Amino acid sequence: SPIPDYLAEVLGSVESDETGAPADYIPELATANPNRLAAAMATLDGEVYAVGDCSDEFTIQSISKPFVYALALADRGFEPVLAKVGVEPSGEAFNKVSLDGGGRPLNPMINAGAIATHSLAGPAGIDAKGRFDRIVDGLSAFAGRRLQVDEAVFASEMDTAFRNTSIAYLLRAYDVLDEDPTAVVGGYTRQCSLLVTTVDLALMAATLANRGIQPVTGERVVSEAVVRQVLSVMTTCGMYDSAGDWVTQVGIPAKSGVAGGLIGALPGQVGIATFSPRLDRHGNSVRGIRLFERFSDDTGMHMMDVP
Ligand code: GLN
Repeated sequence: SPIPDYLAEVLGSVESDETGAPADYIPELATANPNRLAAAMATLDGEVYAVGDCSDEFTIQSISKPFVYALALADRGFEPVLAKVGVEPSGEAFNKVSLDGGGRPLNPMINAGAIATHSLAGPAGIDAKGRFDRIVDGLSAFAGRRLQVDEAVFASEMDTAFRNTSIAYLLRAYDVLDEDPTAVVGGYTRQCSLLVTTVDLALMAATLANRGIQPVTGERVVSEAVVRQVLSVMTTCGMYDSAGDWVTQVGIPAKSGVAGGLIGALPGQVGIATFSPRLDRHGNSVRGIRLFERFSDDTGMHMMDVP
C-alpha cells in the first residue's frame, strides 16, 4: 500500500514546525515531551496505517466528548439529552462559562455541555461508579481495547479545576445537573484522563465513520442515528471557536483535545487521528491541523468535494 509512505512524507513536511505551546493549565500536561508527532488512518475494513510516535499514550481530554455524547444519546434517548444540552455552535472558547438563554449549555463539545453530558451517560439513577464504568466500557468499545486512566494527569487537573467547578455549579443552579456539581466534575475530569494512542483514536473515529460498528471487533457500539447526531455536532462545534476555519479548510467532522490529539471521521470512508502537543490559541494542535489540511488537500477528503 502507498499509504504508509504517503503518511511518512506528510509527517515529515510538518515536523519542523515548533509553533504553539502545550497546555499548561493542567500542570502535568506541560511536563510531557512536546516534540512527539504521530498520525494514523483506519479504514472501515479494519486496516490501520500509522506513522511517528503512534503507540505513545496521552490523555484523550476533549476527544472524549463526542463519544460520551454518543453514549448519553444511546442510554437516555435523544429528547432527554437535547432538553439539557443544545446543538448550537458557541463560537467561544472551550472553557467559556456560558449557557444559552434557557440556562442550557450551547453544545456538548464545550466544557459546559460536556460536563452536563457526562452526567447523562448510563441509565437514569446510576451511581457515579456505575456511570464511570459505563463510560470506560463504552469508550473502550469504540477503541477496541481496554482503556485506562492516567491518575497523575487526573490529580493534576483536579488541583486546578476551579473553572469547570464553577461551570458545574452554574449548571446545578439551572437544574441542568441534579446532583453534586463537584462530584460530576470529578467524573468528567477522569473521563478526560483516559489514556489513548493515536491508533486508538483513529479506530474510534473509524467506528463513527463506519455507522457505529467498530471495524476490527465488528461490535455495534452505537446506532446509526446516534452517529449522525454526533458527527453533525462535531462538524459545527468540534473545533470550538475555529470551527468555521476548520470546516472550510479541512471539511471533515473533527474533535480536538488539549493533550494534542485530533480526530477526523469521514462518513463511509475513514477514521483519522493525529497527535502533537503544541496548541494554538484555541487549544487545537498546530501540527495536527497542518496534517489534516494536507490530508484534505491531497486526497479530496473535504466533505464538500464531489468524489
Ligand atoms: N479536561 C479538559 C478541560 O476540561 C479538556 C479540555 C480540552 O481538551 N479542550 O479543560
